[in-house]
Amino acid sequence: MKPAEYTVSEMRDLLDKMSGMYNIARVVNPMEARVLEIGDDGRVGMSDKCYKVWGADQRCTNCSSTTACISGCHREKKEHYQDNVFNIHSNPVKLIMDNGASYEAVVELINITSDSEAEAPEEENDRAAENVGGAAARYYAYHDNLTKLLDIDAFYEFAREKLLDTPDTEWTMVVSDITDFRMINNLFGIGRGNEILIKAAELISELTERAGGLSARIRDDRFAMLIPGDSFSREDLDDIARVMTEYGSNGVYKLRFRFGVYSIGDTVIPVSVMIDRAKTALATVKSDAREAVAYYDDEMLRREIFEHRVISRFESMLNEGRFRMYLQPLTDENGKPFGAEALVRCIREDGTIVPPADFIGTLEDAGLIHELDSYVWEQAVRQLSLWKGTEREDLIISVNMSGRDFFSMDVFEVLTGLLDRYGVSRDKLRLEITETALIDDMDEVNDVILRLRDEGFYIEIDDFGKGYSSLSMLRNIPADMLKLDMGFLHESEDDVRCRIIVGAVIKMARDIDMDVLVEGVETERQLRTLAGMGCRCFQGYYFSKPLPVEEFEKRY
Ligand code: C2E
Ligand code: MG
Ligand code: MG
Repeated sequence: MKPAEYTVSEMRDLLDKMSGMYNIARVVNPMEARVLEIGDDGRVGMSDKCYKVWGADQRCTNCSSTTACISGCHREKKEHYQDNVFNIHSNPVKLIMDNGASYEAVVELINITSDSEAEAPEEENDRAAENVGGAAARYYAYHDNLTKLLDIDAFYEFAREKLLDTPDTEWTMVVSDITDFRMINNLFGIGRGNEILIKAAELISELTERAGGLSARIRDDRFAMLIPGDSFSREDLDDIARVMTEYGSNGVYKLRFRFGVYSIGDTVIPVSVMIDRAKTALATVKSDAREAVAYYDDEMLRREIFEHRVISRFESMLNEGRFRMYLQPLTDENGKPFGAEALVRCIREDGTIVPPADFIGTLEDAGLIHELDSYVWEQAVRQLSLWKGTEREDLIISVNMSGRDFFSMDVFEVLTGLLDRYGVSRDKLRLEITETALIDDMDEVNDVILRLRDEGFYIEIDDFGKGYSSLSMLRNIPADMLKLDMGFLHESEDDVRCRIIVGAVIKMARDIDMDVLVEGVETERQLRTLAGMGCRCFQGYYFSKPLPVEEFEKRY
């Protein structure tokens, strides 16, 4: 379920209203166990530990707000303190900050009743039991067993404590991981994998202790470090990377340690978001790059805000026509088009154009991609119906499908419904599905593809050669066309082996009665080579970039 969204001022109004109905109405960040404070000027700040209000001195077990935040659903819990019962209603929300970024939080509505008769409830016994164990129990509750570093929950809480205790310090968040860590476990066994993690933890905690910071193991091979900005040094990170490579490599495997760095500007954002930003930077360190460190920059922030915006304002952006279908011609070797591929773009308020790579994955993760896809399909079908009776009548349009579409809607119904509604015949709208989508969810998707093909749709396998192309997929999926990705020809145009492979794939596809189209053709030379290999269909910048529909119509 999607949590309700509130701007900061809406949140203030809500809390005002609710405080008339409940003894306590507040908004909390449960991961950090903190109450958020909204000032009269609309600024958000961090206030007390949330559990202080019922007199506890550490995190509650089974915190209803943490589960509400994770599940996205309302949760309830009672906390007992002296003669009072705190009846807590935890409602997950999204708080939209002034710059458009949004953070998960929980609105807690609490009624306090007096209950002197009540027996000590179970949770209180739990806490009592924890206190009996004292320091030891507490240690295990907060630390990762293997590396003895803090675990992620403790890190959220203690990092916030540090940030609040030192308002004048500028802090840096660093996240590290080991590329292909799974390989270590597979090649050398879990025991060796553990040794490597312990060694990494030693180096990392040495560094953060020296700097007066904090470190944690936040997942598998991922570590987080909070380091005061003036003690942060790039050399320290390079040193760790070097020592780890020496320690963990052998003749066959070279261990690579990498870091993502985020200089914390605004300390009000949740610690989890600071970690996410460092992770975003981390993801840009290529596994084969010589540089082991990457920094979170303005462009990444811009993208992050755009992603939040796309999800939170998706419906209205769709209605405002911000998502537009562009058309890229599909041609023969002379550049004469037989159709076009529909490629979506998002047009920002300021007119700048955002490519699909910046939002398709985000929409897939948010479970919204089927709405965008069915929208683009409708644009395409509408265009085909407009072309009827004109000189463009013979053109086809090819649309992209996400693997997720098959789980979110009845793809068959939607497509046949659209074509019937606009009176367009089945063979005019071609369907592109990537090999990865086919491989990941083979059985579920396969059935629908078979029915679509029986119904008269033309099916294309997109991006063949980009991922781990499998011959059994080709055997199982009855597709009409293979769209071969130029990717590996770009890298080594002269590579004879490469050309032999491409030639063989083209021949094989034709032998099993599939058409072949090569996408990504950029040069005359590529075109000639491919045509010489028997390829008849092309798509690429050599002929044209994707164009707005009007421009496509003008040109073709
Ligand atoms: P795709 O389906 O493989 O589309 C081809 C991509 O290659 C397009 O990128 C196109 O602009 C680009 N391209 C075409 N010719 C050349 C060339 O000569 N050189 C190079 N370097 N690139 C070329 P685009 O438009 O950025 O789309 C990227 C991907 O986003 C598409 O890859 C497709 O997987 C996805 N996508 C686009 N529109 C939609 C959509 O409506 N729904 C879904 N689910 N995915 C979409
Ligand atoms: Mg495509
Ligand atoms: Mg493609």
